[in-house]
Amino acid sequence: MARYIGPVCKVCRREGVKLFLKGERCYAKCPIDKEGAAVPPGQHARRRAGKPTEYGKRLREKQKARRISGVLERQFRRYFSVASHQKGNTGENLLRLLETRLDNIVRRMGFATSLSAARQLVMHAHVSVNGKRVDIPSYSVKPGDHVALEGSLNANSFVKHSLEQAVQRGGVPGWLEWEADLAEVVKRSADKPSLEGVALAGTMKSWPSREEMSYPVNEQFIVELYSK
Ligand code: SF4
Repeated sequence: MARYIGPVCKVCRREGVKLFLKGERCYAKCPIDKEGAAVPPGQHARRRAGKPTEYGKRLREKQKARRISGVLERQFRRYFSVASHQKGNTGENLLRLLETRLDNIVRRMGFATSLSAARQLVMHAHVSVNGKRVDIPSYSVKPGDHVALEGSLNANSFVKHSLEQAVQRGGVPGWLEWEADLAEVVKRSADKPSLEGVALAGTMKSWPSREEMSYPVNEQFIVELYSK
């Protein structure tokens, strides 16, 4: 599977906003938070930075959505084509398709702090959907689907830490639901979280609304860019 493997903070600097591609580090030690660091990469970037064209604005919104979701151009176009054939608002359909990818669901359930870590859990076949192992990050999850991590990950310190972070940030969004009260489990054993015997699983209750999606982009600009 092709994917971007270059420096990710550079990508945020290019877009001029935090895209939260590095998990916990994005909250604790983000270079963009330092004053003056949100300049585009490149030696002459400051000199080149002028007023963006109308096309440029639309291109940047598309690039932001593509980079947050971690998909490459061809796959992103395919998502757009599917979204444009669905009923309703094309831009919202596109973001919903990206939001309900299995790797993103694993991240939003708090089992990983970043999309790349969630994708690794999926690709290493640690995740099942409705009882069947799925190792395809782009797998589309639907309302009513049950997503679970394999039992051996209860002792995994990375997963424990990710869940602690998720609890600190308010748990899962309204359209997802943990099977066990993971927030209570993590809080109860704050010093030494023990997830032994706890189901690391959850269900997608409904489709996410636009406000509940993790895409701070103007989707209408993306539709306009591709509809030219
Ligand atoms: Fe982007 Fe995170 Fe790097 Fe900040 S730390 S620039 S949000 S990837």
